[in-house]
Amino acid sequence: MVGRRLYIPQMSGPGARLTAAALRSIGVDARCTPDSDAHTLELGGLHSSGEECLPHRITLGDFLKVTEQADFEPAKTAFFMPTAHGPCRFGQYAPYLRKVLDELGHDDVMVVSPTSANGYDGMQLQGADTQLTMWMGLVLGDLVTRFTLKTRPYETRPGATDAAAEAALAAFAEVLAIPGLRARARLRRLVEQVERMRDAFRAIPADYRPGRPLIGLVGEIFCRQNTFSNDQIARRIEALGGECVLADISEWIWYTNWYQAERLRRTKGRWCWDMLKAKIKTHAQHHYEHALLAPVHEDLVGYEEPPSVADVLDRSRPYLPAEGCIGEMVLSVGKAIYLAEQGAAGIIDISPFTCMNGVICEGIYPAISAAHEDLPIRVFYFDGVNADIDRDLEIFLDLARAYQKRSAQARRYPAYFEKGPAGS
Ligand code: SF4
Repeated sequence: MVGRRLYIPQMSGPGARLTAAALRSIGVDARCTPDSDAHTLELGGLHSSGEECLPHRITLGDFLKVTEQADFEPAKTAFFMPTAHGPCRFGQYAPYLRKVLDELGHDDVMVVSPTSANGYDGMQLQGADTQLTMWMGLVLGDLVTRFTLKTRPYETRPGATDAAAEAALAAFAEVLAIPGLRARARLRRLVEQVERMRDAFRAIPADYRPGRPLIGLVGEIFCRQNTFSNDQIARRIEALGGECVLADISEWIWYTNWYQAERLRRTKGRWCWDMLKAKIKTHAQHHYEHALLAPVHEDLVGYEEPPSVADVLDRSRPYLPAEGCIGEMVLSVGKAIYLAEQGAAGIIDISPFTCMNGVICEGIYPAISAAHEDLPIRVFYFDGVNADIDRDLEIFLDLARAYQKRSAQARRYPAYFEKGPAGS
């Protein structure tokens, strides 16, 4: 990758930005692909058959937008496209991208493609420190999203939350990109920045009054994280009086770690060198995540993630056993139940049109709804067509409010809700 500029697709804006920053710390000239727009869909559609899923069209379109830039040089360009095991088309994206690039005469462009089969160990570009730096970027990207979603519906100065999120991302990126810093030293500096972010969010003028229905957003990882794909669904729900909590990206990393250990257990047994390495990696990730989140525990009361991915998989097991069903659907089902227990008044599964995950989950949700006082759960499908979803969301929010009134499952709020309006 020496001498190349590496482009990271914006699955989640914060995650991609901080991943790129982490890679810059080891001298990789990394940056995000351009923001998605109508031209993204046009290019992605032009070079795919129409049977691929929306995330493919968007990532392909954004990569091809890079090839149209005036300074594009194939031999100095690399595209980052991870791959995954499991019964889904995601595993085909990287080879498909390679094929399209070759057909367009861009054979010299490199496609960098770590795999989930080994828990993305292929990303260990320069030892464990780099992997931990990237992990910290991911955790912090999720954290900024969590703070944004829990604050923005209550802000009384429009735009204040987005501005605080932008400032936090810039500060995190600066620390993540420092070259030559050991992981522990970087962690210390990032914890300081987390404290600053927490204080900046606490100072946002806001009217914290309980009552907004909490809507859990689960589903296919790209579409639920990528606001262009899901037509800004969280902002739309906020405008209709709701509040969203979004299944984060690190959940997928925990899942791939679990899957890697499960695979090793089946093929090599519990006691092997690879299993030990996998356990050490997971332990280190837990340690760093715990340290980064320590300053914000109070602020995240009522918004806690499950203690481990096993808690999500346990909840999914009666409907979809993770040992026999590989992929995001086990996470969506398990997380929907977890969020219901946390007091969510509705669950929306965000799915690309024709995605098997959404289709399978849609068949299971009625049983989960019935087991949780008829909790409203609905799959919203997205295909890059600008259909008006506000009407459907409005109906869903009405159902969520009705559920909120009759449900015995109370939602917990952070202490600042009792103090009334915050900020100045
Ligand atoms: S999970 Fe669905 S939308 Fe996502 S890559 Fe796989 S098939 Fe496509």
